[in-house]
Amino acid sequence: MDYISTRGRAPALDFAGATLAGLASDGGLYVPREWPRFSADEIAAMAGLPYAQLAAKVMAPFVAGSLTEERLFELTTEAYGRFAHKAVTPLVQLDEQNWLLELFHGPTLAFKDVALQLLGLLFEEFLGRTGQNLTIVGATSGDTGSAAIDAVAGRDRIDIFMLHPHGRVSDVQRRQMTTVLAPNVHNIAIDGSFDDAQAMVKRMFNDSAMTDRFAIGAVNSINWARLMAQVVYYFAAALQLGAPHRKVAFSVPTGNFGDVFAGYVAAQMGLPIERLIVATNVNDILHRALSNGDYSQGEVTPTAAPSMDIQVSSNFERLLFDLGGRDGLALAEQMAGFEATKAMQLTNAQREGAAALFSSSRTDAAEMSAAIRWGWENCGQLIDPHTACGIHAARTSGIDPAVPVVTLATAHPAKFREAVERATGHRPSMPSRVGDLFEREERCTELPGDYDGIAEYVATHAVPKG
Ligand SMILES: *Cc1c(COP(=O)(O)O)cnc(C)c1O
Repeated sequence: MDYISTRGRAPALDFAGATLAGLASDGGLYVPREWPRFSADEIAAMAGLPYAQLAAKVMAPFVAGSLTEERLFELTTEAYGRFAHKAVTPLVQLDEQNWLLELFHGPTLAFKDVALQLLGLLFEEFLGRTGQNLTIVGATSGDTGSAAIDAVAGRDRIDIFMLHPHGRVSDVQRRQMTTVLAPNVHNIAIDGSFDDAQAMVKRMFNDSAMTDRFAIGAVNSINWARLMAQVVYYFAAALQLGAPHRKVAFSVPTGNFGDVFAGYVAAQMGLPIERLIVATNVNDILHRALSNGDYSQGEVTPTAAPSMDIQVSSNFERLLFDLGGRDGLALAEQMAGFEATKAMQLTNAQREGAAALFSSSRTDAAEMSAAIRWGWENCGQLIDPHTACGIHAARTSGIDPAVPVVTLATAHPAKFREAVERATGHRPSMPSRVGDLFEREERCTELPGDYDGIAEYVATHAVPKG
């Protein structure tokens, strides 16, 4: 499988190349040249497979040419063997129509482990072949950072530099990053917001003074391999609920549009999906874009669901590319307009294409608390504030009652326990796999939010590509 850039100018790469590159050299994102498609019979034959085996089957077409299905299966077995639940992503029934897909059984308690545990192994596999060193630079509002650090700590040929906004991540999130003392892990707390951190990371990918010396890699969801790994649990959930003979809808708490784009990919691959509900908090750029075509950046409002406090959704570009007839040069122009004015209108083709599969919903603070309370009082389930946005969207979606609606539970309630306790009066207990997190020593460097200082810090501590 070949990967092409959404902006039409970067060279096509194979899967290994796209995984190591992260962002394309023209500023675009990599997507497969075409969507692989399974027949209904092929999907039916996947029913009942253990998760690691299903994962290898679903992802095999995407890695063709870089990994065999057998080798991929070894990697998925190792990655998902670290999960605390044998089913990896178990499904829980809430009421007649609503289900929860629990994606938080990995080491750092959020869905990002599902992709990053595999991505860490893919990096090691591909770097081992070339002997190259990789310098991962990432920005996090909390969950990507902890999941990525857990996935690559102590691995050969990889250094990770993770920027987080000083004072704006939860205690659990910070400690999950800063208590990892492996010498290849570098935590940086910057003075500034998540968007500032993300902008500096993107700048580093285009800074030839850095890219000439270092192979800069990405763990944010701009990296295609992350989305690919997330496609699997859409198959897992739908198969359990009767696919391919029955359609299923999904409600997805959304920030960077990565997780829900994986659902779009599953639909392109032949999984019968009735609807994908894009659930945002009050940072609602995606809700505005999908409901009236207005993709314009507002100010970020901090909420109890910080991993969705985003006003530029990187992966939306992948959808616009696909719905716009895959015209990279036209999309490059549309994105340049957005970058200059912080606003753009979707084209008619993009609006109509999106409306065929997606709907959207915005959840404010009171609705978020009400959804957490509903889960606890009616179903005996503690749900985290991100998942609560998905539940609110699912319960107000008006989907045909005969169609099951699966809400993706993106974080463990204990990861955001203050908000859960405020809403329910009940404090979620920390799973034992978190261990003595609050006793461990922390290590972190504080830097001002200026690019040159951060580039210099990375350059002094990273290993050149070799
Ligand atoms: C990252 C994250 C999201 C948003 O996912 P995207 O792929 O960025 O849309 C939602 N919930 C939680 C808990 C997260 O960590």
